Amino acid sequence: MNALVLKQGREKSLRRRHPWIFSGAVEKAGGKPGETLEVRDSSGKPVALAAYSPKSQIRARVWTFDVAESVDASFFRRKLQQAVSLRDRLPTARHTNAMRLVHGESDGLPGLVVDRYADVLVAQFLAAGVERWREEILDCLKEITGCEAIFERSDAEVRKLEGLQPRVGFARGNQNASRCPIIEHGLNFRVDVAQGQKTGFFLDQRENRQRVRALAAGREVLDGFSYTGGFAVAALAGGAKQVTAIESSADALQVAKENLAANPLAGSGIEFVQADVFKHLRLLRDKGERYDLIVLDPPKLAPTAAHAKNAARAYKDVNLLAFKLLAPGGLLATFSCSGGVSAELFQSIVAGAALDAGAQAKIIERFAAAADHPVALEFPEGEYLKGLLVLKG
Ligand code: SAH
Repeated sequence: MNALVLKQGREKSLRRRHPWIFSGAVEKAGGKPGETLEVRDSSGKPVALAAYSPKSQIRARVWTFDVAESVDASFFRRKLQQAVSLRDRLPTARHTNAMRLVHGESDGLPGLVVDRYADVLVAQFLAAGVERWREEILDCLKEITGCEAIFERSDAEVRKLEGLQPRVGFARGNQNASRCPIIEHGLNFRVDVAQGQKTGFFLDQRENRQRVRALAAGREVLDGFSYTGGFAVAALAGGAKQVTAIESSADALQVAKENLAANPLAGSGIEFVQADVFKHLRLLRDKGERYDLIVLDPPKLAPTAAHAKNAARAYKDVNLLAFKLLAPGGLLATFSCSGGVSAELFQSIVAGAALDAGAQAKIIERFAAAADHPVALEFPEGEYLKGLLVLKG
């Protein structure tokens, strides 16, 4: 087996079981992309087995800290089985047929994401290691879940950092991929796994949509960055008086309209607006509009800490506008899915926005990603989604 030797004193993060080995910690390494390497500390002692990513700054990702273990098809079957049975036991499994089955590093499978949309799986192979074991992983997934159709969405930007080409299409089976029907807490949604964002649907917000549903009765609601209308449909189901859904993508809005039609929400008022949220909120402010519940779920504005400064400006801008648009007693459910913005920083940005808007506000709840997106304690990077429910006084 080829080896990766660490520089002296650079084994600390591995001792804490963090799965990433950065290029700066590597004394020497060799092998093919995705190959399993024995990781040795500077004294030559084997400490882990890891997948080699020669092109990436994350030079290797640990499969196991048990160097006697074999990384082979049965290793992946075991890991996938564990990940799937964890989801089977979650309470949310009784309320939906759409869940994240594999959440990368936090499930011991660095670079692999698998989402289940009823009987279709969507897989993303985002690092050289899982790319090397792609066939074995696909076969195991099919066997474990019984899903005949697996759509591959290996078109995320991060693949470039690994030197991997994008790959999109059915890897197993074939089905209509543009409108997979799913059920979430009794509501119907259609998921475009081929063209939609990420794997097609934001499963991480499932329980937060449910929370917004419970808060929406009788309220005038604004759903900013609505995508396919997840929060908007939930708010209507919860008895919202009126919902304004703002989204820049025409394709997403088309699916949002179909999602509305797929549910018995007769008599409820909704307006879909194709617009830039940052601009449209200014327009609404200038018109003196008021809302009782505002949801802000912008895209990832800061993928890494290097983008945090610009992202902070955008988060502050949009949250400030929301505070202006909120009626007294109104609620703001505001989110950030940026890995580069910590929960602490996000809270201080929202605090700054309230201050500049002249609003008295209190946090009354905190949001995170749903339980099918677990965060391994040794991998805090896995915690990316945070949100605050803020009450305007
Ligand atoms: N809340 C949604 C997910 C939102 S994802 C749900 O529960 O499903 C973020 C969305 O913001 C994407 O659909 C993206 O197209 C949209 N978006 C990005 N920038 C935007 C902008 N400036 N104005 C309006 N929408 C924007």
